[in-house]
Amino acid sequence: MKRIFSGVQPTGNLHLGNYLGAIRNFVGLQADYDCIYCVVDMHAITVWQDPKELVANTREVTAAYLAAGIDPKKSIIFNQSQVSAHAELAWIFNCVARLGWMNRMTQFKEKAGKHRENASVGLYAYPTLMAADILAYKASHVPVGEDQKQHLELTRDIAIKFNGDFGREVFPVTEPLIFGSATRVMSLRDGSKKMSKSDPSDYSRITMTDDADAVAKKIRKATSDSELIPGPEILGDDGKPDEELRRARPEAFNLLTIYAALADVELGEVLRDFEGKGFADFKKALTEVAVENLGPIGSEMKRLTDAPDHVDDVLRDGAARAREVAEPVLREVYDVVGFLRP
Ligand code: ATP
Ligand code: MG
Repeated sequence: MKRIFSGVQPTGNLHLGNYLGAIRNFVGLQADYDCIYCVVDMHAITVWQDPKELVANTREVTAAYLAAGIDPKKSIIFNQSQVSAHAELAWIFNCVARLGWMNRMTQFKEKAGKHRENASVGLYAYPTLMAADILAYKASHVPVGEDQKQHLELTRDIAIKFNGDFGREVFPVTEPLIFGSATRVMSLRDGSKKMSKSDPSDYSRITMTDDADAVAKKIRKATSDSELIPGPEILGDDGKPDEELRRARPEAFNLLTIYAALADVELGEVLRDFEGKGFADFKKALTEVAVENLGPIGSEMKRLTDAPDHVDDVLRDGAARAREVAEPVLREVYDVVGFLRP
């Protein structure tokens, strides 16, 4: 069976983008793939994490996986630091990846900001650890949001270079799976930035645990515009709005796209239903569909994290199963590289 690997960082503030761009897609893939879903705590510490919060956030992402419908008997759910193969393989990949490749990574530039000298070496090396996460399981497919496309390409480059350098087809060239109607959910405050856990403003995102009041307030305050909602004739043959039009009204199209994704309908249907209406009306409907979708998941997450024994059991069991897959791969790699283990 083809194998999926994907992960979410336990950096708090799990949001609608994480849900629509990643976690919701993870659930459906279980039918056709052998799935490994990781809580990537080693990625999280590339920027400072309070240790107590890191523990709580690790449980929260696990709870989100379970509440969204990932079955821990069928799929493997675990946190990254429990399986040492990730760190070990990442070191080898640090010696395969080239500085020129790493220097092109836009996520590092965005996250390091102006004071790049103060960024951790881990933040710079993030993509080689991500390649190790995926290739330690020889995963064939990785479902992610659009923002991770560049890192996935680097994973492919690393696999190809490793295989070429050692003259052996050790690693597959992994395919990204970027699908669904919201692969890039934007900030509610600024349509030019992606919705993110690390945005300092709580009003920039709807979290998976926001209650109905919080969802309503954030959507009410969300940036939109005073123009009316256009009709479906503005969509191209691909069902997407003309790029120039979308760029002129990024916040408006973000909210419309979120609605379509949550209601699980095409954008054209949303435009047909709301054509000629203003955003005040539309926001009420959006609040309803958001609360309807996220409400049950949020309360289940709360139930699971209030008494975390089940969550911890899932992570312990998942880690044992993950090691069984990753350790033989690491041994193979060590042999190929020429690491002596007398
Ligand atoms: P951080 O700001 O700490 O990097 P994040 O919001 O980017 O947090 P990650 O844990 O890095 O979250 O990403 C988890 C998954 O969610 C990845 O597959 C990523 O592509 C996806 N994702 C993150 N943000 C969005 C978004 N705004 N829209 C769609 N998918 C997203
Ligand atoms: Mg991210």
